[in-house]
Amino acid sequence: MATATQAVPLTEHVSKYVAKTRQMLINGKWVDAASGKTFPTYNPATGDVLANVAEGDKEDINRAVTAARHAFDNGPWRKLSPGERARMIWKLADLVEKHAEEFAQLESLDNGKPLTIARVADLPGTIEMFRYMAGWATKIEGNTIPLVLQGGGKFLAYTLREPVGVVGQIIPWNFPLLMAAWKLAPALATGCCVVLKPAEQTPLTALLLGELVQEAGIPDGVVNIVPGYGETAGAALAAHDKVDKVAFTGSTEVGKLILKAAAGNLKKVSLELGGKSPNLVFNDADIDATIPGAAMAIFFNHGQCCCAGSRLYVEDKQFDKVVDGVSQLASKIRIGNGLDPSTDMGPLVSEEQLNRVCGYLESGYHEGAKAAVGGKRHGAKGYFVEPTVLVNTNEKMKVVREEIFGPVVTATPFKNIDDLVAKANDTEYGLAAGVWTKDIAKAHHVASMLRAGSVWINCYNVFDPALPFGGYKQSGWGREMGHEVLELYTEVKSVCTPIA
Ligand code: NAP
Ligand code: MG
Repeated sequence: MATATQAVPLTEHVSKYVAKTRQMLINGKWVDAASGKTFPTYNPATGDVLANVAEGDKEDINRAVTAARHAFDNGPWRKLSPGERARMIWKLADLVEKHAEEFAQLESLDNGKPLTIARVADLPGTIEMFRYMAGWATKIEGNTIPLVLQGGGKFLAYTLREPVGVVGQIIPWNFPLLMAAWKLAPALATGCCVVLKPAEQTPLTALLLGELVQEAGIPDGVVNIVPGYGETAGAALAAHDKVDKVAFTGSTEVGKLILKAAAGNLKKVSLELGGKSPNLVFNDADIDATIPGAAMAIFFNHGQCCCAGSRLYVEDKQFDKVVDGVSQLASKIRIGNGLDPSTDMGPLVSEEQLNRVCGYLESGYHEGAKAAVGGKRHGAKGYFVEPTVLVNTNEKMKVVREEIFGPVVTATPFKNIDDLVAKANDTEYGLAAGVWTKDIAKAHHVASMLRAGSVWINCYNVFDPALPFGGYKQSGWGREMGHEVLELYTEVKSVCTPIA
């Protein structure tokens, strides 16, 4: 594993952006926290403070919810025509595109991910999510319904799909801007108003997006952005009785807390949670395509993906070849500062994540696993971990059962398909899975047997704004993206009247 060292120069806008304490967006104004407090966000490549940010807490959440409530109940957003809303969302996409390099640099600085990856993955995903949802704003329809029991008369009955109202959105640090887009775009398309809380580790790109929300002409109070800690700001948002719905992406553990907090006013809840996704390789797979696919499935975004292909199961005849191939690719990954264009893998997002991932590696060794490649922290400064393949693993080990959320894959051989499907499904999670085979019937058979919200056949990590994404079992509730997400942000109203 080589170390990359040369960083690209920051744009003037990004240098200025991080030099100033960033405020929060409430009711169209940039304001300090009511408490006056700020908190630091760090550059994980160095461990140094990157910028200071206003620290929102319960009072700021209350101010933001009041603004969103007013914008929803009395404001212009819902009253605009769908076409006008669509044009503003499309304009927001254009503005993000115009500032793409600034977003990519800021994301790399705050999260640690390679600038080159932010440019080709996070930014296009964000921009196209806004465009795709701008298209839906004008296509949210109800039905006319023939009644079964007409009671001697004739009725006209129809449904309307209306915005769910004020939505609290709580997002994680692994794709900070993209997660903001996944949340904001459908809320705006359906006519909801939002209070967004970014993760404490990575608040900067969501705040920059807030500036563009204003420039796009989206009215004051429709989008409020309150950075702060989960236990204070996040918990207050999830519990707030004037919030109609909470949409959360993060750990399963916190997802359960969100659910409890939401019970007070029975707000609607959607959850996109953790995973321990199986990636299944059969003897008849195209091994030359499978090896880089299996490596990318786990090492993309440093394994900090809820859908990371973190359990690799390989049919016995190909096991050694696939493990050797993935290990060789892992050993060539260049680790370094995300701003260096030659970096393949940056640091993990925080010291906490570094300790968490290294703790899992230790537990794996303790239980008898061995590293075929990597297996430890990289360097002494910054939060880097070597891409790691663990072998000698079994179903009882913590490294096989629990979400590590780092560049660590466990590799296990299998002998027959029934045993494999049982193993693949033997998890509390059900977010994603991969299947690698040239046998088309087997591929679709296995896909049908897997209890997972996404199954990728002969590919992995394929995301698209049009493709629903979400989890079975403890990986979540509801589906983001595609037309499915509209259901999370709308209520159905039945209207009927006698007409004869
Ligand atoms: P997390 O605690 O679930 O954080 C996700 C979001 O929830 C953040 O905005 C966080 O705010 C907020 N939050 C935390 N506690 C809250 C509470 N009591 N009420 C309301 N909101 C709350 O995730 P994490 O601690 O950053 O990461 C821990 C593990 O979660 C990872 O190792 C990984 O396994 C998993 N994870 C999964 C995903 C995913 O995409 N499914 C994403 C990230 C992490 P703060 O950041 O300010 O605390
Ligand atoms: Mg940071």
